[in-house]
Amino acid sequence: MNQHKRKKLSPVRVISNQLLSEDTHYIKIEKPFDFKAGQVVAIALHAEDEPRLYSIASGTTKPYLGILFDIKHDGELTPPLSQVKTDDTIFISEPFGKFLCLDKPATWIATGTGIAPFISLCESNLSNNIKLLHGARTLDKFFFQETLEQKLGKSYLRFCTTESNDKTYRGRLTNYLQEQTELPTNNKYYLCGSSQMVIDVREILITKGVPFDNIIAEIYF
Ligand SMILES: Cc1cc2nc3c(=O)[nH]c(=O)nc-3n(C[C@H](O)[C@H](O)[C@H](O)COP(=O)(O)OP(=O)(O)OC[C@H]3O[C@@H](n4cnc5c(N)ncnc54)[C@H](O)[C@@H]3O)c2cc1C
Repeated sequence: MNQHKRKKLSPVRVISNQLLSEDTHYIKIEKPFDFKAGQVVAIALHAEDEPRLYSIASGTTKPYLGILFDIKHDGELTPPLSQVKTDDTIFISEPFGKFLCLDKPATWIATGTGIAPFISLCESNLSNNIKLLHGARTLDKFFFQETLEQKLGKSYLRFCTTESNDKTYRGRLTNYLQEQTELPTNNKYYLCGSSQMVIDVREILITKGVPFDNIIAEIYF
């Protein structure tokens, strides 16, 4: 994290803070710069704090930056970040990162708040020729599913491990991938979320013949 500590942090105004589901917030903050969909920013509550990284979860033409995050109750930043109010000030870096997901056709795979960069890409109209697999524990964790459904139609697949409805598969997305007899091996696979998901999915894809170089991951450590 030290390399991010050295990044210059600038004050920005909080526009809104919305509780989307238990322990998950979406904050909108002032947008002081342009960015590329898929990039991240470092965020801190005070200029001297060690920042944490967040994918930008809003389209490039929106007048704000959206950040989707889970509260880690024993974490340093997210408990107080979940308390910020309109007109509070927080500190952010300039955008950076190379998880731009430019190759198409491609499969995007996310768990939990790992959906954030794909929300940005969809809202930025960069989601043609994409299949998106999103895994979550409960049905209320499919954030921005209306937008994703509208952009991707039947190519947006939801996997819920503890509940089901007519729009979701019950179970893990890794089970679904295991069951596929043929996966496109020339396409790129963009993975975003926990390190465990990335390890598991990478192993399955490689077993199914996808070359290592076609698997690109953004890990939320
Ligand atoms: C590129 C990137 C993008 C990311 N984007 C997002 C995003 O869009 N949304 C999102 O929700 N998260 C994202 N993350 C994760 C995010 O950066 C933070 O790690 C997360 O929000 C927790 O921050 P925190 O300060 O609350 O917790 P931290 O204080 O960083 O603690 C995190 C966890 O580690 C444990 N921990 C802390 N210190 C120790 C220690 N010394 N030993 C053992 N365990 C320890 C804590 O108990 C806690 O459970 C991203 C991470 C990366 C690398």
